[in-house]
Amino acid sequence: MRMRRGAVAVAVLAGLSVGASAQAPIRTADITLRGLAASDFPRTTKLADNVYAYEQIDPTKRTVTVNNLIVVTPEGVLIAESQGTAGNVTRLVADVAKLTPQPIKYVVVGSEHGDHTGGIAAFPAGIVYLAHPFSAPRIKQPTEPVTDKRIVMLGGTEIDVLFLGRAHTGGDLEVYLPREKVLFMSEVFSNRIFPSMANGYPTEWLTTLRKAEQMDVAWFVPAHGFVDSAAVMREEEHQYRLAIERIVAEGARLHAAGTPVENAPAAARLEPYDGWTRAGNNASAALKRVYMELDGKLKSDP
Ligand SMILES: [Zn+2]
Repeated sequence: MRMRRGAVAVAVLAGLSVGASAQAPIRTADITLRGLAASDFPRTTKLADNVYAYEQIDPTKRTVTVNNLIVVTPEGVLIAESQGTAGNVTRLVADVAKLTPQPIKYVVVGSEHGDHTGGIAAFPAGIVYLAHPFSAPRIKQPTEPVTDKRIVMLGGTEIDVLFLGRAHTGGDLEVYLPREKVLFMSEVFSNRIFPSMANGYPTEWLTTLRKAEQMDVAWFVPAHGFVDSAAVMREEEHQYRLAIERIVAEGARLHAAGTPVENAPAAARLEPYDGWTRAGNNASAALKRVYMELDGKLKSDP
């Protein structure tokens, strides 16, 4: 293993110590590095009474999970996020039916991107889809708009559908359960995946993450990457913000130095985040987006 600056810090964060067996799972988004296989998914994790995280492998993503939040009530089910393929949605619907006979009443579109919406037509009829107006044109279903906050009262459970600000897509919605203190963050947060910022709003994304951190949250649930323990998810949400802070800072430093955008990936100091899953795919687009924001090329309104 090539040692980079920051590698020791990564090992400590990963719960690893040299020569000792690791009790804690390796901090990664890659199922193979975690010692898992596609056949270990889908996976349902109970977060609170009647509240579950659901992790599934998207055939187009392969090594990382695409996640949902499932909220079960005596008057129906709300699901945060769809999945990228009809097959994955069909499996999700079947797995929800193992949890409850209640029908799915709501699906919240947190991210308009294809790996979260591609399979949406495979849901049964009669579902209300909630989406930010920015995302609505990409959804192949009629949607009801959420521009700021919509409170869904379902079977005695309060479910807050929130727009905390632009982040990964521009129409990012979160789902918050105030009683259970669960916050599903959609693609505003991915666990240990190098930030995918090609369509994002870098500095606004940081503001959005800080807003989420100020909420009363026990569980931060990401749209990609593993759903680990509540304590680990809190740490990783923080790490994710620090990663974006670094990308924004390095992009600004190189932009100010007159470094051409195509040279920015090689010149940026992104350790330890350059060891995160998909760093090789995502770093150049992230830095390019920071340059675009600095050059005033990102529209100010959704
Ligand atoms: Zn995604």
